[in-house]
Amino acid sequence: MIRLITCVLGVFLFTHSAMAETNMENKDEAPIAIAIHGGAGTITKANLSDEKEAKIRAKLDEALSAGYQALEQGKSSIEAVQTAITILENSPLFNAGVGAVYTFNGEHELDASIMDGRTLQAGAIAGVKRIKNPIQLAAQVLSHSRHVLLTGEGAEEFAATRGIKFADNRMFDTQFRYEAWQKAKTKHEQDKQAFWSQWPDYKYGTVGAVALDSEGNIAAGTSTGGMTLKQYGRVGDSPIIGAGTYANNESCAVSATGHGEFFIRYNVAADICARVKYSGKSIKAASNEVINDVLKNAGGSGGVIVLDAKGHVALPFNTEGMYRASINAKGEKYIGIYK
Ligand code: ASP
Repeated sequence: MIRLITCVLGVFLFTHSAMAETNMENKDEAPIAIAIHGGAGTITKANLSDEKEAKIRAKLDEALSAGYQALEQGKSSIEAVQTAITILENSPLFNAGVGAVYTFNGEHELDASIMDGRTLQAGAIAGVKRIKNPIQLAAQVLSHSRHVLLTGEGAEEFAATRGIKFADNRMFDTQFRYEAWQKAKTKHEQDKQAFWSQWPDYKYGTVGAVALDSEGNIAAGTSTGGMTLKQYGRVGDSPIIGAGTYANNESCAVSATGHGEFFIRYNVAADICARVKYSGKSIKAASNEVINDVLKNAGGSGGVIVLDAKGHVALPFNTEGMYRASINAKGEKYIGIYK
């Protein structure tokens, strides 16, 4: 009897330690990584106070850490992307959710999208006015709608069936964006042509995230208020799959920020992934080509955050600054603002 118990115990201890070893190995072989952005544009040391810079760094750190923690807990890359973006949407510092820019008419119209690199499922919403966290509605479109992109009232009607939180449009107001809107209106009245040629200077603050989970799956998401003084009904690149957001385990996950019209016409996110997939380029080389050659030569300003299934990270931009942060597969953290 005693021999039997010893034998059973022995087998238990052996399998248990073998399992622990396998888990250890899996952990080492299963890197996790995340990158986020808070918009690109004329962001210079001269136009950002020390106090505001500190606040932005702290918020980026908070969103990054929360997303990374979700990955450490074994959550999916889709969940980590949502976690990080929700925090940035709730912060008045960024042009998404609270703190969104104003349309010409003085309202906020929000766009967001999310894509799963494993299944190539995607969800996006555009022109919503009353959704507290647009990224969460985009995720519901991904998981619970047969469509990819819903707009305006239709998107909000769908939101009501999914238990999504609503908010009054005025809840997204901030003094900082209101003043930017007023300034933009004045410039527009003075000289329309000059205003539109400098249009990209009147925004920045779009948010996005890309993540790699312990299952080896990548995802990307983006959320924005668009661009100051945009025409009512204007939709930028952020909710357009392939332009502002793209994810495919076979190549990379991308979230973009910048002058949306260019990102749509140059199909930026998908182009970066296609270069990785078909010409075997690294994400660094591919994203640099698209942002600093193709887009720059075309006159398009902005940047991207990119991640591949091995946990490599690239954060190129062709503007003076881009709010960005990442934790790569080695666990190295980076937070940057200026060039
Ligand atoms: N890409 C966004 C848009 O065009 C704006 C931004 O990234 O700042 O709507």
